[in-house]
Amino acid sequence: MDIFKKQESNVQSYANNFPVVFSSAKGCWLHTEDDKRYLDFLAGAGSLNYGHNNAVLKQDLLDYIDSDGITHGLDMHSQAKADFLTALRNHIFEPRKLDYKVQFTGPTGTNAVEAAMKLARKVTGRTNIITFTNGFHGCTAGALAATGNQHHRSCAGMPLTGTSRIPYEGYAGVDGLALFETMLNDNSSGLDKPAAVLVETVQGEGGLNVASNNWLKRLSTICQQYEILLIIDDIQAGCGRTGTFFSFEPAGIKPDIVTLSKSISGYGLPMALVLLKPELDIWQPGEHNGTFRGNNHAFVTATKAITAYWTNHDFEEHIAQRANQVNKAIQRAMRRYPSLFIRGKGRGMMQGVECKSGAISSAIARICFEKGMVIETAGPDNEVVKFFCPLTISESELEQGLHIFEQAADIVATKLIKKAS
Ligand SMILES: *Cc1c(COP(=O)(O)O)cnc(C)c1O
Repeated sequence: MDIFKKQESNVQSYANNFPVVFSSAKGCWLHTEDDKRYLDFLAGAGSLNYGHNNAVLKQDLLDYIDSDGITHGLDMHSQAKADFLTALRNHIFEPRKLDYKVQFTGPTGTNAVEAAMKLARKVTGRTNIITFTNGFHGCTAGALAATGNQHHRSCAGMPLTGTSRIPYEGYAGVDGLALFETMLNDNSSGLDKPAAVLVETVQGEGGLNVASNNWLKRLSTICQQYEILLIIDDIQAGCGRTGTFFSFEPAGIKPDIVTLSKSISGYGLPMALVLLKPELDIWQPGEHNGTFRGNNHAFVTATKAITAYWTNHDFEEHIAQRANQVNKAIQRAMRRYPSLFIRGKGRGMMQGVECKSGAISSAIARICFEKGMVIETAGPDNEVVKFFCPLTISESELEQGLHIFEQAADIVATKLIKKAS
């Protein structure tokens, strides 16, 4: 443990809440050096939707490594990349009647967001990008300008420009889209005509705020009407997290650009994509370059994740059942502990519970950890306890986790009563 204090930068954050040393992991379990095990309700912030070291994905990766399959390939053609593009096209795009070209960016979410913003600006010749209150899109300068969180923004060290923010659905009781349209039509609103709107359908870091299907449809219509590109940042909400492969499917919209990362490789390997409508593909070769755009190990596991989980509806059915289980536990906890909780938030396996304060949610997360579960909080004051286990979790494992959460809630509620009396 000492080595981390002595040697690693203070910039580490998750480690502060879970101060143990993990050595191995399988499915939804994390194991420490000294043989303790923790149920993983964080799942790499949504990068491990198929669990740790998923056996099916792992075998393909082992076989690939064993055959000396190419590991690093810049953006050169490889069999692994061809297989991935084919699987994506046949099993994801075609059944959903989507037509996208695929851009491989550097392997982080924020890099995909940078590329998407650049492309929208290049295509439209405009600079401004509309973003939303409580949005999170990454920590490099361009994407950071689109991110709301002050903690992240405050260390930019330079002006964060080129974006304008409007209220997300439900924010401060304002109809953000009505406001947006009014401002677009007002020659002196001061809102420069945007290149694009960049939005999450469920705000992962911002507190599991959900945009309704109706709101997303309205947004999409406004974008079409005013020739503004619609970018859905599906980095966290995509890859099945909300119940469907893309989070925007239930809204019936077809975004112009989509960013994917986190669980797209399926195995927790770094990988990020920009999906763009073919007519937007005006990139010149190498304009948005990056050394690690060809992580072939990630392509192998990404291909397998698609063919193993997304060629029929079984997995979606499984996610729906688990989501229902989470929802019931949240409802039950709210009935039992009205002193702690305000409301359930999110949808699918992207749900959580809003606590009356960040102190309450942090206390719950801390007690969960003591009881053998890794779980995090989200939202402007970290007031939302976020249930983010692998989607592959079994009914009984999920029950265990939800039970730990209820025990933690019980302890915090009892302490509150003692304090008050
Ligand atoms: C995590 C996340 C990002 C940034 O991804 P990194 O890999 O951390 O750079 C961007 N957008 C959303 C919605 C995210 O959840």
